[in-house]
Amino acid sequence: QTQAQAAGDEAKADEAPHFVFVPLMAQGHIIPAVDTALLLATHGALCTVVATPSTAARVRPTIDSARRSGLEVSLVDFPLDYAAVGLPDGVPGGADNMDNVPPEYMLAYYSAITLLCGPIETYLRAHAPRPPTCVVSDFCHPWTTKLAASLGVPRLSFFSMCAFCVLCQHNVERFNAYDGVLDPNQPVVVSGLEKRFEVTMAQAPGFFRGWPGWEKFADDVERARVDADGVVMNTFEEMEPEYVAGYAAARGMKVWTVGLVSLYHQHATTLAARGDTASIDTDDCVRWLDGKDPGSVVYVSFGSIVHADPKQIMELGLGLEASGYPFVWVVKGAERHNEAALAFLRGLEERVAGRGLLVWGWAPQALILSHHAAGAFVTHCGWNSTLEAVAAGLPVVTWPHFTDQFLNEKLAVEVLGIGVSIGVKEPVMYQVDKKEIVVGRSAVEAAVRGAMDGGEDGQERRRRARELAVKARAAVSEGGSSHTNIRDLVKCFGVGASTQDAAE
Ligand code: UDP
Repeated sequence: QTQAQAAGDEAKADEAPHFVFVPLMAQGHIIPAVDTALLLATHGALCTVVATPSTAARVRPTIDSARRSGLEVSLVDFPLDYAAVGLPDGVPGGADNMDNVPPEYMLAYYSAITLLCGPIETYLRAHAPRPPTCVVSDFCHPWTTKLAASLGVPRLSFFSMCAFCVLCQHNVERFNAYDGVLDPNQPVVVSGLEKRFEVTMAQAPGFFRGWPGWEKFADDVERARVDADGVVMNTFEEMEPEYVAGYAAARGMKVWTVGLVSLYHQHATTLAARGDTASIDTDDCVRWLDGKDPGSVVYVSFGSIVHADPKQIMELGLGLEASGYPFVWVVKGAERHNEAALAFLRGLEERVAGRGLLVWGWAPQALILSHHAAGAFVTHCGWNSTLEAVAAGLPVVTWPHFTDQFLNEKLAVEVLGIGVSIGVKEPVMYQVDKKEIVVGRSAVEAAVRGAMDGGEDGQERRRRARELAVKARAAVSEGGSSHTNIRDLVKCFGVGASTQDAAE
């Protein structure tokens, strides 16, 4: 039985829902959105994913491969019109993703993407094989409230974040935790939670809060979250039950947890193609890992957006070298580094040849983490990376940089007990920061040793990580919580279903 036949068994085509996904144009958001679309399609839904051209190009192989396997999923791209928002020559050509729009044009990007509302609606009315029945849009796209209203369908907020993070952030705002706090690094307690957590304004300012000029946008984002008909989240209930329930209660809306969506990919080839074309030959990479002992390799990556300061790169590299463990370090493209950093990286590459593998570009991350040689993950705590460590049953060294990453670190270290914090307290903002070195080589070495060995504590962390991975697999298996939620979404948003069905 093909996937399509299996899908057909679950939802009759004339009643099957048509979900329109509008992800944020960032790899950390579109990758899980695409995976969620594929999951819904395996249960009989039709899914259309909307993206900007450079973003779409990176996920097209995944969508094409799913289509070839018989799933009803399509990808449509729409260029951004910066001229229409008053920036005729300012933005570099093709800048339409969080990793290629310069920070100074980010507000213009968010304005330009708003203008896709009309073209998307026109496209769907003219070309979609069936009328949409539900919009699933990133919570960073408040304008999709209007899109869903024009189409006359409900809208679900898509969160590529954990419930713990969004609930903490929600409670900090709801209980005005920062009122009267002048020092952005002063710890405050998050109210309304059973367990005690402290955050700082710098670490958890609120989505789009604290940036001059973004006040209206931040308000629009909050309004759109209140107005949503429900939430779809890439997490799983058994990992953070009290926070999933807490967020649903706080918002008074249903939360469908559907993760871990990376587990949708059963084959190494589709796993390796996730998010972009790998810059190393996947077979070579697997062969390299095959040559290492089980659980011996440290994987180091800071996601798709972080740009490291040259001095920080050197400290990290020297710390990895001193740790003595084999490692795979994703250093991103050579064009992202200055001459000093490049010279250092090339020198390191030579010194550690055979023991350390530097990936110059996009890495097949989920594939590497799932290899039996992987032993720990030094991560910036992007939510997807955190989840991919969970899926692989690996402990993490937590090194948050910005946005939700400090709260994800708290979840990994203080709630799940699978993380060793590298000790960063203040955010290093988007792209290169002017700050002094944040983390020195000895701190890197110590944290890596802690995660890879760490005595009894280390063993306990590893045991908890493995246990979580088992629970994650159970959640996406037949009858598991996420599997059931995917089915429920297909049922609730099919033709003739009403928003009332969703609320029940
Ligand atoms: N990723 C990858 N290869 C890379 C860099 C990133 O496959 O070289 C993937 C990673 O597996 C994850 C996503 O890109 O799925 C990054 O999302 P995350 O939330 O971890 O971090 P962000 O990039 O949003 O900061």
